[in-house]
Amino acid sequence: MANTRNGLAAARARGRKGGRPPKLTAEQVEHAQRLYDANTHTVAQIAGLLGVRRTTLYGHLSKSDDVSAGSETTTSTDLGLDILEHPVPVRKTRGACPSCGHEPSTRSEAAHQRADVAVTWLHRDLDVPGEIVARNHCRNCQPEEPAVDVACTVCGDGPILAGEFAAEIDTNDVLPDPVQQWLTDAGWQTDPTLLCPEHA
Ligand SMILES: [Zn+2]
Ligand SMILES: [Zn+2]
Repeated sequence: MANTRNGLAAARARGRKGGRPPKLTAEQVEHAQRLYDANTHTVAQIAGLLGVRRTTLYGHLSKSDDVSAGSETTTSTDLGLDILEHPVPVRKTRGACPSCGHEPSTRSEAAHQRADVAVTWLHRDLDVPGEIVARNHCRNCQPEEPAVDVACTVCGDGPILAGEFAAEIDTNDVLPDPVQQWLTDAGWQTDPTLLCPEHA
């Protein structure tokens, strides 16, 4: 576990974990939203650019097209709520969320959702002790905080630990054994730093 501790220390040193996540300025949020809407950057890349965790970034990104055009406000107007409650029916897409079945209603939302469901979330299996459930989520069914980013030192990509796992890491500062096992099985290197299979 000492090696994993080093990896986490390295991750923390890069500002990805530990303490309160840095707050984003309105300008940073706007910048992030532009990149997100342009679909030229993954959420991991945007988070890396701004030096924040993906989980922090998610809280700031608007998934609606209507408030994305350079607007700083993401408050739901009556009009916005109306749109949310009565989505325009469109043709069936193949981009339905694998966890909740949510189907994007616009091309832009579909692009966002493709990026969102590309991220793997690791949950503790509540039925089988020591087992992991790996899920992919859209914005509608993403787990609430706590969530901890397991980020490759090179590309910043990696799974996000949800719920109990995240709480355990905050308490013990080591990767829970099942997570360590999952990463190793997936081809991750955890010594001396966290590296995804592509960069190990
Ligand atoms: Zn979903
Ligand atoms: Zn990588």
